[in-house]
Amino acid sequence: MSNNKQECCSFCKRPGFTPETGPLIKADNGVMICRHCVETCHQIFEDQEGAAKTDQQNGLAELMRRPLPKPAEIKRELDKYVIGQDETKKMISVAVHNHYKRLFGKGSAAAETVEKEFPDVEIEKSNVLLIGPTGSGKTLIARTLARMLDVPFCITDATTLTEAGYVGEDVENIILRLLQAADFNVERAQVGIIYVDEIDKISKKSENVSITRDVSGEGVQQALLKILEGTLANVPPKGGRKHPNQPYIQVDTTNILFICGGAFVGLDKIVQRRIGHHVLGFNSADAVQKQEEQLSPARILHAAEPEDLVRYGLIPEFIGRLPVVTALDPLVKEDLIKILTEPKNSLTRQYEKLLAYENVKLLFEPEALEALAEKAVAKGTGARGLRSIIENMMSAIMFELPSRSDIAECIITRETVETGIPKLKKKKS
Ligand code: ADP
Repeated sequence: MSNNKQECCSFCKRPGFTPETGPLIKADNGVMICRHCVETCHQIFEDQEGAAKTDQQNGLAELMRRPLPKPAEIKRELDKYVIGQDETKKMISVAVHNHYKRLFGKGSAAAETVEKEFPDVEIEKSNVLLIGPTGSGKTLIARTLARMLDVPFCITDATTLTEAGYVGEDVENIILRLLQAADFNVERAQVGIIYVDEIDKISKKSENVSITRDVSGEGVQQALLKILEGTLANVPPKGGRKHPNQPYIQVDTTNILFICGGAFVGLDKIVQRRIGHHVLGFNSADAVQKQEEQLSPARILHAAEPEDLVRYGLIPEFIGRLPVVTALDPLVKEDLIKILTEPKNSLTRQYEKLLAYENVKLLFEPEALEALAEKAVAKGTGARGLRSIIENMMSAIMFELPSRSDIAECIITRETVETGIPKLKKKKS
């Protein structure tokens, strides 16, 4: 503070120590500011914060005014992109519908009537656990849902949380991803969808080993409990580890839908063992045979119960936060052929379009599609393998064709899949 009455505010040039300016506050470099200018600054900050808040609220209000798609509509939309997985698509359509029911149409007359009738009933959110092999469509389902509902969406990986070490402090980074996807619009992020991949990798290593028990997985599960259930999370805007002097963005996770996915390798054996024991308990050879017939290895995961997941290494509280559990089937050859051709944005259509730019008609013979699918099955990475297989095959063709103005048609046959050489038809001259 300065006592020299001759000094002036560096911003408005008014002399200090008048009733309007008050004493001047002086910085180390000699710059001074009066009360009048400080108040003006304060007003500017307030206005800006107000505008940002209104923007956020408007964004959310717009979202909530739209009609909420019915489960059957959600399923139909999923059908356009996701092949097979009918049971999962149905379950998740219902879960998503119920989850957003609490938000969409809020304030409408119908919603208010229901609120009056059930004032004390709080609908809990239906976070989802997807169990299924890699490349079976888990991420695709979550992504398609978010796009359909037009809510912010992000994909995170549970294993990065284990690696970060200081368990319990870094889970907020998951929310940061969603905030980034929502352009830091907190209100919109608060109704987004987070896909947490590799959730099976944070299981305790073994139920029975107590001395050498791996606690890091359990610690991450503990840390995730709160944000899955709903909490006011303090998110470090720049990510990384939290530290005390950092400003946080507060995000309420109550209405964020968490979809967790994992391959859960070995879970089938746990389920099988339980079912086997159970059936033997009845001491009926007939029943054993029936069960074995019903549950092929591919179907066995559909019978997974919370107790199997506990045996696998998820803690009961964690499973409790994921009330909707559904298993995806490994994709078989027929599914993979459909994936190549049926979705709106299928790989074969993408290549057809690319070559159409070169005035070349691209055709895939049915046997070629079969061969591609067989290769993908052999790779064992579900539909994930399809892309690299088809890209490897097409790269030589895509290199050659743009320089060949004489070609009208390029036909992919079973041999093409093996040799990379297509059948070419020349233009009629
Ligand atoms: P994961 O189950 O490992 O999460 P993804 O959903 O990431 O698998 O699938 C990888 C890619 O494979 C997707 O981008 C999609 O192109 C394709 N894919 C996987 N499953 C299906 C499916 N059921 N229907 C259509 N495409 C699929």
